[in-house]
Amino acid sequence: MAEETGISWCDRTWSPWIGCTKVSPACDGCYAAHLMDTRLGRVEWGPHGERKRTSESYWRQLAKWDREAKAAGRTISVFPSLCDPWDNAADPGIRREWFAVMRETPHLLHLLLSKRPQNAVAMAEAAGGLPANAALGATCENQEIANRNVRYLLDAARDLRPAFSFVSAEPLLGPIDFTRISYGTAGGYDVVRDALKASDIERIDWVITGGETDQGSHKARPTHPAWFRQIRDACAAAGVPYHHKQNGEWLPIGDWYDDHPVSLVLREWHAGTWREVSLDNEEDYVARIGKKAAGRLLDGVEHNGFPEVRHG
Ligand code: SF4
Repeated sequence: MAEETGISWCDRTWSPWIGCTKVSPACDGCYAAHLMDTRLGRVEWGPHGERKRTSESYWRQLAKWDREAKAAGRTISVFPSLCDPWDNAADPGIRREWFAVMRETPHLLHLLLSKRPQNAVAMAEAAGGLPANAALGATCENQEIANRNVRYLLDAARDLRPAFSFVSAEPLLGPIDFTRISYGTAGGYDVVRDALKASDIERIDWVITGGETDQGSHKARPTHPAWFRQIRDACAAAGVPYHHKQNGEWLPIGDWYDDHPVSLVLREWHAGTWREVSLDNEEDYVARIGKKAAGRLLDGVEHNGFPEVRHG
């Protein structure tokens, strides 16, 4: 619930309600659920769990931040990190109030990231329409989820005209080719579309990637660096802004040893003698070195892309 955020792609976090249900492999290590379990202990997670509206004084922060942004002549981006904006179990009345406050805070940019983009159009319309200062986002952690969520996201973007549309591929749990999003079959043929190319369909305006981090008893799964690179390079080729938030808890052992004054030679005890272990491709071996040490550089570069506001 803190005002300042350690999230590199937004300025502030603020949530209209707290509570959610895990719906996707990316939810396995839900930061918000872990925070509630272990630190705040206030909200039960799950379909029948509570969706607890945050306090009036907390809601007034948005107007305060709006004045601050106006005085500074800049936009402050706000991410609702403790809920999903399109949660089926959330109170539509709270969403309507939230959207009304968004319209009254035009110097804020609300980053509505969701794992339920299929609900966006109906729920936004029920809340009086999507405010002009809202961006629509969807989490995609592997190709299967991307094939589903990108379609919903871009359909919603076409109907709702958000400030921009974006994808968060964090935690990235498998490779994703955003230039080949499956749209099912038509006339016996597979329909595949490039979601980063403006001339093909409404395109994704911004892509964020990140590895997974530990959340309590949930231990982070590694991301292969090739999966990050594929997305980075596809964004660069299409001119889509790219932001790499973090590597997670793991790093390829080659990357780690490149930065340290030791050479990587492994030996194993085998049949009464030491024999050298040959690592044909060091990148295929990852080591758990912790989030801080793994950092957020990808091939030595920090990626902090941010999109232009398209609509609004
Ligand atoms: S959708 Fe987001 S907030 Fe909800 S359980 Fe999944 S990770 Fe947590």
